[in-house]
Amino acid sequence: MSENILKISGLKVAYGGIKAVKGIDLEVDRGELVTLIGANGAGKTTTLKAITGTLPACKVEGSVSYLGQPLGSAKSFKLVQSKLAMVPEGRGVFTRMTIHENLMMGAYTRKDQAGIEADIEKWYAVFPRLKERSAQLAGTLSGGEQQMLAMARALMCHPTLLLLDEPSMGLSPIMVEKIFEVIRDVSSQGITILLVEQNARLALQAAHRAYVMESGAITMSGNAADMLHDPRVQAAYLGE
Ligand code: ATP
Repeated sequence: MSENILKISGLKVAYGGIKAVKGIDLEVDRGELVTLIGANGAGKTTTLKAITGTLPACKVEGSVSYLGQPLGSAKSFKLVQSKLAMVPEGRGVFTRMTIHENLMMGAYTRKDQAGIEADIEKWYAVFPRLKERSAQLAGTLSGGEQQMLAMARALMCHPTLLLLDEPSMGLSPIMVEKIFEVIRDVSSQGITILLVEQNARLALQAAHRAYVMESGAITMSGNAADMLHDPRVQAAYLGE
């Protein structure tokens, strides 16, 4: 039987008078790669922020549970301890720390020094650009380099659930391919992923299941491969 890692029920979020999320249900099972696609302003980032408890002051209703436990106001250190990692839109690296220090921070709940070093070397092999610049301050990296670092840092804690907010944003086509290769690889290792993406085609090609969000509501959900061939998805999100 599949095990529920994340379960969102009846989530509503309003910023003052703006109803950003209007009562959504969403589930992610262990080992799944689930994508949430939708146009700008549909409410995708707000949904991720509701999971991590990082929303600004606003009205939230409904429930979010992770591994069967209610979430919402969990502090970020608790999220790391419970192996829930998020790579936010706009990267979110520690700009005044070096690449190496950022990677070490990602592993701060771990005690296996040899394993941490081995993981850092693994990520340096995946992203050689980070190895070349390991002593460089993260704030001086290019947008694409920061994105690589943010992904690698999030994975240093060996997350149970990885939340990715628009990982392809602002990247060159080659880097987008590379990031998606890493996402597929991480997924094939059994890490559960919820991926928010504007690039619907790549997201649907990589994911097992998908949800479409429009104006704060989930309007479609199902098998990602089927959705790639759905005329409504093709017309609205795949430019066909
Ligand atoms: P994008 O793909 O452009 O990032 P999104 O689907 O992630 O969009 P959200 O960022 O969740 O959308 O925004 C949903 C709605 O909530 C938008 O209308 C946005 O303007 C509004 N919104 C988001 N954050 C705030 C905030 N802090 N205060 C007021 N309104 C907000």
